[in-house]
Amino acid sequence: MAVDYLRLSLTDRCNLNCVYCTPLEKGKFLRHEELLRHEELTRAAAAFVRAGVRKIRLTGGEPLVKKNVVGLVGMLAAVPGLRELALTTNGLLLGKLAGPLREAGLDRVNISLDSLREETFRKITGSSGLDKVWAGISAALAAGYSGVKLNTVLMKGLNDGEAADFARLSLELPLTVRFIEFYPANERSARLKGALFTTAETKRRIEDALGPLERLPAAASDGPASVYRLRGAKGRVGFISGRSDYFCGSCNRVRMDCAGRVYPCLFSPATHGLKDLLRGGAPDAVLDDRIKKIFLVKSSYRKDSPSAGHVEMSSIGG
Ligand code: SAM
Repeated sequence: MAVDYLRLSLTDRCNLNCVYCTPLEKGKFLRHEELLRHEELTRAAAAFVRAGVRKIRLTGGEPLVKKNVVGLVGMLAAVPGLRELALTTNGLLLGKLAGPLREAGLDRVNISLDSLREETFRKITGSSGLDKVWAGISAALAAGYSGVKLNTVLMKGLNDGEAADFARLSLELPLTVRFIEFYPANERSARLKGALFTTAETKRRIEDALGPLERLPAAASDGPASVYRLRGAKGRVGFISGRSDYFCGSCNRVRMDCAGRVYPCLFSPATHGLKDLLRGGAPDAVLDDRIKKIFLVKSSYRKDSPSAGHVEMSSIGG
């Protein structure tokens, strides 16, 4: 499978502290000078696009806490050959930024939201702010993006009772509600034993409450999600089943974190870095050569390739 998708983490900092994501050891962030600057991120993005990448998704940490993120989006959107620039955010800062980001050239936005109830939202994220996330969702829907998605991780005993409530949003709102299976990725999430609430269980809950889910044909923008529609709905419901399904064979993405370390797979160690080349003023040809090597490693990656053990989603960006 050709690599045409880059997930680019802008920062390891986040304004939430989610029970299944943020590392156990609090406040251990990279030093400011270790993070790639706007020019370095843009140069790296341009090199990936020269190598065949057509879509870039900005993630984090929380990408909207990155200084002058609107300016950075403008620089990235201007990279020649890039077809789609997307962003994944917790939505807290999106109310004010959705319009300016759209104007700067952002095409799509995914908003991570795990509860529609203030108390559960606080339990999961360690913070209030559900009203701010809703302001973000409304602003994104009003800003004219080519796609708005909600990403929800259901966990048994925590928020699995909200499956139908989330799916119900797709009846009235023109967005895709996607359920992502929980993964015990780092030390903190590994403590949530038995939290996995599978796609099959989620579908059952939704169909019992709201009727049948009709399967829709796969679109390129759906990635590994299988997508459905409830009868008469304006929006769609999707499922990403990383635990109960195995989609390595169709994986088209690589990841770069905010310090320029590149991961051929979410669960692999970083195999290459670009910061030395970006900081050292290496010519484009040298940068291009390293990216070719990364893509070669990626193409030989298999499910049983060396695993990094624990994965910090909060710095790689999920
Ligand atoms: N701060 C941004 C956000 O909240 O969307 C971007 C970074 S966050 C790490 C990206 C996605 O990873 C979120 O949708 C989050 O739910 C997901 N994620 C983090 N840890 C996870 C885990 N253990 N299992 C499944 N999804 C996880």
